[in-house]
Amino acid sequence: MDLRGNKPLFFATDLTNFLACRHLTALERLAAHGLARRPVAADPMLEILQERGLDHERAYVQHVARSASRVVEIDRHCSTAFDDTVGAMRDGWDVIVQARLEHGVWAGWADVLVRVDGQSRFGPWRYEPVETKLAKETRGATLIQLCLYADLLAELQGAEPEVLRVVVPGRDFEPECYRFAEFSAYFRLVRHNFEAEIEKPLAASIEAAEPYPEPVAHCEVCRWYPVCEKRWIKDDHVSRVAGIQKSQRKELATWGVTTLAGLAQVPLPLPRKPDRGSIEALVRVREQARVQLEARVTGRPTYELLEVEEGHGLAALPEPSPLDIFLDLEGDRQAENGGFDYLFGYAFRDGGGRICYEKLWALTPDEEKQAFERLIDAILERRGHDPAMHVYHYAPYEPTAMKRLMGRYATRADELDQLLRAEVFVDLYRVVRKGLRAGVDSYSIKKLEPFYGLAREVDLRKASRQLSLASLVSTGSYRHGPKRLWPSTRTRTTASRLSSCASGSRGCAWR
Ligand code: SF4
Repeated sequence: MDLRGNKPLFFATDLTNFLACRHLTALERLAAHGLARRPVAADPMLEILQERGLDHERAYVQHVARSASRVVEIDRHCSTAFDDTVGAMRDGWDVIVQARLEHGVWAGWADVLVRVDGQSRFGPWRYEPVETKLAKETRGATLIQLCLYADLLAELQGAEPEVLRVVVPGRDFEPECYRFAEFSAYFRLVRHNFEAEIEKPLAASIEAAEPYPEPVAHCEVCRWYPVCEKRWIKDDHVSRVAGIQKSQRKELATWGVTTLAGLAQVPLPLPRKPDRGSIEALVRVREQARVQLEARVTGRPTYELLEVEEGHGLAALPEPSPLDIFLDLEGDRQAENGGFDYLFGYAFRDGGGRICYEKLWALTPDEEKQAFERLIDAILERRGHDPAMHVYHYAPYEPTAMKRLMGRYATRADELDQLLRAEVFVDLYRVVRKGLRAGVDSYSIKKLEPFYGLAREVDLRKASRQLSLASLVSTGSYRHGPKRLWPSTRTRTTASRLSSCASGSRGCAWR
């Protein structure tokens, strides 16, 4: 969202943000009008993803250029980008990269436009949009984005595109195709609702922005998160209760309960039956709020054990063995081919009872395979000495990653199968969740560290970012730093630069 003079200019992200969170739209409006500052947080992981996205787009353009197409790239930094795009369409280039599209209050940068047969106001050809994406599954947001480009193209060329294309990595650049006609009605409804929202009066400040920020999935990646989090803390918002569901928040709002302290003080048994969800689940979050409130008031780590239930919580813990292993994998889930595990770390006791830590680093696929094999072999070796030993981990990532590694490298299949069938892996997150109630707003391992006296020297988020970055640099996924615009390894099929922006034309072209 932007202002051009006094007129607003909207982009595809404004529509997808609107679908994700209406409060976000209110905040973006304030920022566009200079009434709020958009938070800026340096995030190397985000830069890496952007870098990979650009690499993927360049690889696709090179692929297209190899099939002897006439390819032109629009210079995004040039003030004539829109005119250049329309000029390229009129000239009938086969492929237009970084096309600037505009109509009315809507604008966007299409990754690629491809020329197809069909009548348009330019002649017996027209254009259809292509987006290059890293995600394996095409998301709704991508289709909304493509629909906007298709709609803008329809205005510019006087003919609707038929096909929307998405190019994801690893399929020889074969695009996934979607018919615009199947999505256009929904797209127009979303745009209509967005435009109606924008007609509402502008809030005076962030604090007055409506509707209230209700936590949603998008919060995890939202740049405004620190702003909303501050507001939730100030308001003691009921979403601060660990594990509370959206439907429960809605239910409680009808009871007039909107704060953590308010929920903690709801009498038991509950004064009424909830319209949504079960009584038991609501009692659970009420009790969770009570313990969190107690921890806040006393300033001490507070917890209580839950009633013993056979096979659950602490009762699910096996007998300890001196040969037990405590395992933690670190991986980059965004890496190509479904993720990459670069650190296989595990703690164990040696023959003298001392706690040792083994770290198996993997910076190449070969090393990842070897680390996986060495880990399985180490578990089996200890199991050979004590079949009652177990491997403890926190949350289900480790067994899931090992199944993936076994499939990817076709190795240690029988061994892993044997370990899984014998229930050697024990998820301590499940044990904690079912075994005790702690005065924390999340049961992530970081939030539980004060209970066993661990004081970190380095902030965990900072450390894991650095770790991810270091591994990506080593593996070559992050070769030139965030400022690099084009890969040095790129080979142009034909490097015939037409002219530069300074001379008023449209950047570089291949044929
Ligand atoms: S942090 Fe969450 S609630 Fe706040 S604007 Fe972003 S998505 Fe909306």
